[in-house]
Amino acid sequence: MDRRQFIEKSTLVSSAIVLPNLLTGCRFDNEVGLGVALVGLGQYSTDQLAPALQKTNNCYLAGIVSGTDEKKNDWSKKYKIREENIYSYDSFDQIKGNDEIDVVYVALPNALHKEFVIRSAKAGKHVICEKPMGISSTECKEMIDACEQNNVLLSVGYRLHFDNYHRHVMSLSKKSRLRQINADFGYVVEDPNEWRMKKELAGGGALMNIGIYCVQSACYISNQLPEMVTAQSFKSKPHFFTEVEETITFQFSFPDAISNTFSTSHNYPANRLSVDSENEKFDLSPAFTYSGLGSTFRSRKFSTVNQQALQLDDFCKCIIEGRRSKVSGEMGLRDLQIIEAIYEAAELKKEVKINYS
Ligand code: NDP
Repeated sequence: MDRRQFIEKSTLVSSAIVLPNLLTGCRFDNEVGLGVALVGLGQYSTDQLAPALQKTNNCYLAGIVSGTDEKKNDWSKKYKIREENIYSYDSFDQIKGNDEIDVVYVALPNALHKEFVIRSAKAGKHVICEKPMGISSTECKEMIDACEQNNVLLSVGYRLHFDNYHRHVMSLSKKSRLRQINADFGYVVEDPNEWRMKKELAGGGALMNIGIYCVQSACYISNQLPEMVTAQSFKSKPHFFTEVEETITFQFSFPDAISNTFSTSHNYPANRLSVDSENEKFDLSPAFTYSGLGSTFRSRKFSTVNQQALQLDDFCKCIIEGRRSKVSGEMGLRDLQIIEAIYEAAELKKEVKINYS
């Protein structure tokens, strides 16, 4: 695939492509839609995905996969999940024969995404994988290949593509020339033992966890792929951040000259996005939350949506209509390629070309 084809595939993902019948093997029920199984019943599944699945039109919470018996019991009662649709990580592959589960949603620590995306694909289930899609671009390629080989659709949990504020900033570059994009996303990690602080499970620190939203913003606001990157990594608490980075700042070279700076940290709070185009200046704070996003410029207001419910419904619509998700596996791969270049630039302390091959 040449670079131009790759750009089309990853950023301007063509929703017009009609794929082979993706409903084969799905027991689509017009009343309730497709059945979704959540893998990993942590904070994101508990507080966001399960509640969102109570609001979706094209799918419903049909199954769970967990390593914790207590959670399985609680969830089965709360969401009336049938015993046959409850799995452990060991029994997960039996999901293949379960025609009530059409979609698997992987919400595990980052380093476990690849294994469960590939096992889902081999079981013939369509997959949504949480961000970051993997802990390396090599992993992402393996996941994409497995999904293609098994004729299942793959998507990444990039919920902000379904948010009205972000949809607005995505449209700005189409109306006039962009001059500047800046974003800053951070929070303070209190527990040095959580998996996000472990290189083996997280793959990296703030950049992998939340800086990825800055990378996403850079691409969908500019509507261009960054070509080169410079980056600086800082540790004000090296004794605390022993395995992964604490704070990282980066700047891209885009094909068009757009001034930009992005930073992300696990050691200071920040949640801001600022876009300056010839037509409009737009500041968003908070910018990356699930709800309550706010524009500080001329009080521009958009209606609040349930980002996760829209994301889930859109993915199921893609399956039903046989087209790619706009938040595709290729987009997840692209972001890991950019992230790898950011880490390299920070380490080498020089500008690095981003490798999209
Ligand atoms: P949590 O730590 O809250 O939950 C992870 C769950 O994974 C655990 O509760 C556990 O579930 C399961 N698990 C299996 N193996 C392990 C292991 N070795 N260590 C820790 N947990 C394990 O994480 P989150 O829910 O916050 O994050 C999960 C994924 O979702 C991450 O990839 C993260 O980046 C992403 N995320 C995305 C967000 C978004 O806005 N799109 C927001 C938050 C997270 P069980 O007990 O059921 O086995």
